[in-house]
Amino acid sequence: MTDWKALAAELYDGSFRPMFVGGAWCEARSGKVMDARNPADGSLLASVPQGDAADVDAAVAAARKAFEGPWSRFTPFERQALLLRIADGFEAAWERLCLSDTLDMGMPIQRTLANSRRVLGMLRFYAGQAVSIHGQTIPNSFPGEIYSQTVREPVGVVGAIIPWNAPIAGSVWKIAPALATGCTVVLKPSEEASLTVLMIARIMQEAGLPDGVLNIVTGLGAEAGAALAAHPGVDKIVFTGSTATGQAIARAATGNLKRVSLELGGKSPVIVCRDADIDKAVPVAAMAVFANSGQICIAGSRLFVAREIHDEFVRRVADFAAKLRIGHGIDEGTDVGPIISARQAERIAGYLAAGPNEGAEVLTGGLRAEGAGLEGGHFIHPTVFGGVTDDMTIAREEIFGPVISALPFDTLDEVVERANATPYGLAAGVFSTHLGTAHKLAHRIKAGSVWVNMYHAIDPAVPFGGVKMSGYGREGGTEHLDEYLDTKAIWINTD
Ligand code: NAD
Repeated sequence: MTDWKALAAELYDGSFRPMFVGGAWCEARSGKVMDARNPADGSLLASVPQGDAADVDAAVAAARKAFEGPWSRFTPFERQALLLRIADGFEAAWERLCLSDTLDMGMPIQRTLANSRRVLGMLRFYAGQAVSIHGQTIPNSFPGEIYSQTVREPVGVVGAIIPWNAPIAGSVWKIAPALATGCTVVLKPSEEASLTVLMIARIMQEAGLPDGVLNIVTGLGAEAGAALAAHPGVDKIVFTGSTATGQAIARAATGNLKRVSLELGGKSPVIVCRDADIDKAVPVAAMAVFANSGQICIAGSRLFVAREIHDEFVRRVADFAAKLRIGHGIDEGTDVGPIISARQAERIAGYLAAGPNEGAEVLTGGLRAEGAGLEGGHFIHPTVFGGVTDDMTIAREEIFGPVISALPFDTLDEVVERANATPYGLAAGVFSTHLGTAHKLAHRIKAGSVWVNMYHAIDPAVPFGGVKMSGYGREGGTEHLDEYLDTKAIWINTD
């Protein structure tokens, strides 16, 4: 059994961790640094460079040089072999990577470890895709011997910006398709969680990634992030984060009309029909929000329950929530870890107050978790609100914390209308044992993913993304590759 505390002491001792530009490990040009702290107790893990526009310039130049240099001569087979070596490197370092995420952003270690199938699967899936990219020969209607064909070409330098809630999966989901297609990357991790991304860059370098193909610039959103989004040398931005930042990025990208794909926020509905298997649905509906302390874009935070079973179902979700163990992510028994920062905890506490102020009833939780073992951290009790109406703030806004708003419904038409009455459209859950009902709801809910009698499933081969203000573009599946490729038409007159 792994001694997580001993491994933690080995990983981080408060010292400086450089960023990665053009194959070199370096400081910010300004010399500025930012602290990386453990959200479970506030302890200092490390410091990292506070990169800004000057560092982004250098990283984009390195990425351009690599894109036009040796990387462009890598064959699909060589890119595939590299991705497979990277996957092996991840597998060898897996416990250290997961622990780094747990220390840096608080996710319970059991959950980071459980992500392995998906992350290793992603690397190996994209390795397969590297040798599967091809154009078409398309018949045209010109007279004579004129051939037309398409080729797929990498878009070029990709700027990737990610949030703090899942650094391993979030960064691999941006980097792996770029490597598969032959793009190069400048990635800016969240200022709240940079450490694991730096570790990932080292694994990739050791696996033989050429200099400049991947660059990591750590820094603030308003400085390094904004500079990357606006940079004229960047051909494409892939972003995961809040809707407000996504809008700012889309605006910034207009300067050189760079391509943009956005994975943004949500206020996802979970619909429990009167014929649902209640025993199975209760834990899934609860963990659709409480996993990762609610810091999940797909959190099923609006729990619509058929009126006939509403009170019993919601009481059981609240009982389930009350039994979840709150603690440090590093303790294997922890179900709910800390919130990333004091600022986020403050935001969530605002919603905990808004609920009762607007007339909702606290069925469980409703406050910060404090006491022995939680000193210096930011913890919130898993919370279930009853008596919620659609117009309440807690039913409309993304909370990004462990908060469920339960709402009764009477008919399927009504619940479809209410579930869709949100600016967001990222995900939805449906619980029903009636095939026709499940089918109908799955088709009528406006969302990028709908899970029936399950939640949270994300697979490397299946597209994921949002509609409406949850963004555009898809990650996962073969569609993901299209985000990183341009199509060129070539005409050949053989007469
Ligand atoms: P955020 O938008 O504040 O930050 C995300 C990233 O953008 C960070 O790296 C940040 O430094 C950077 N950034 C901030 N301002 C910027 C600017 N002006 N220009 C360029 N970059 C900038 O989001 P967050 O608080 O880190 O994450 C929480 C949000 O992310 C939630 O809304 C959540 O729903 C969303 N999210 C979505 C998905 C998804 O796949 N749809 C996944 C995870 C998180």
